[in-house]
Amino acid sequence: MIIDNFQIFILYFNYQLSIYEVYNIKSRQAEEFINHQEILDTLEYAQANRNNRPLIESLIDKAALCQGLSHREAALLLECDEPELVQRIYHLAREIKRKFYGNRIVMFAPLYLSNYCVNGCVYCPYHAKNRTIPRKKLSQEEIRREVIALQDMGHKRLALEAGEDPRNNPIDYILESIRTIYSIHHKNAAIRRVNVNIAATTVENYRLLKEAGIGTYILFQETYSKEHYEALHPTGPKSNYAYHTEAMDRAMEGGIDDVGIGVLFGLVKSILSATYTKGIWFAGTGTVLTVLALLLCVGYNHTAYYPSTADLQSSLTLANSCSSKFTLTTMAYVSILVPFVLAYIVYAWRAIDSKPITVDEMKEDDHAY
Ligand code: SF4
Repeated sequence: MIIDNFQIFILYFNYQLSIYEVYNIKSRQAEEFINHQEILDTLEYAQANRNNRPLIESLIDKAALCQGLSHREAALLLECDEPELVQRIYHLAREIKRKFYGNRIVMFAPLYLSNYCVNGCVYCPYHAKNRTIPRKKLSQEEIRREVIALQDMGHKRLALEAGEDPRNNPIDYILESIRTIYSIHHKNAAIRRVNVNIAATTVENYRLLKEAGIGTYILFQETYSKEHYEALHPTGPKSNYAYHTEAMDRAMEGGIDDVGIGVLFGLVKSILSATYTKGIWFAGTGTVLTVLALLLCVGYNHTAYYPSTADLQSSLTLANSCSSKFTLTTMAYVSILVPFVLAYIVYAWRAIDSKPITVDEMKEDDHAY
């Protein structure tokens, strides 16, 4: 055990030394606090140590102190391949979450102010070159009506969304919209927290957002791989990787003390490594949670799943679209069958997977798809 601990110490010492040569986590320059080679080395380090029990156990003990982990340590815990240790990691994560956050889930409703955008993100239909969608920017009166409808559904927290367009969506428009939202007092209630998800901007603009009383500033960092980021964002201000990546530092300099990023975990490693197949777990978990959140939205508070643009109050909710007892009773019986259907899918999938199709079989197949 003494040798194990000594090895861990040497490993950790070497790693700390090497990191500070390539990585300056205190820097505010993207090219200094993100180093692509270090990302690749971190993934390799995690792969190489995924069964190193003494090292992983020492990291679990360190995590329990709640004083932070380095990126390499976090990567190794994510990559851990020892089932028993994985259970310990889950257990500790649950404990820490309860300790800091209690047993609660906070939901907020996205409110799109405008889909005008000058950027060219390849994955988004709002990109500037898309001439086939109608563009819309809500007036203050329309915002007021939307917020009241959301309040009627029980929402108390919002996330404002808007494309990046200095002419159509300038900072003044965002600030005016925030003022409008906070001024609404509907049925003796007001929106408690307006979170903002707008494009990376200047320290001065972040200061104005803070003065307007925003909650969290959210900015998605789709990937920290500069090469992939630039391929996904070929045109517009968002194509500037450094300006985008350094936005959170500017936001905090402007006085915003709560910032949130969205990282697409597992995406780049799936692209880089032909043998890496775990990306599906990040994507799959995200999909399940998203769908669950949507279903909960539909089920609770009479949230509309099919909004009416003519009359918001007439939008379809679970309650008013399942009005007959017959429908609800039938659906209750059908839902009892769900586990059997799932079991059949698993059975059929495994049966198909157990014998891979051969090249000869493909050649002989006369089906025309
Ligand atoms: S900046 Fe946002 S809204 Fe604009 S194209 Fe990119 S993802 Fe879409």
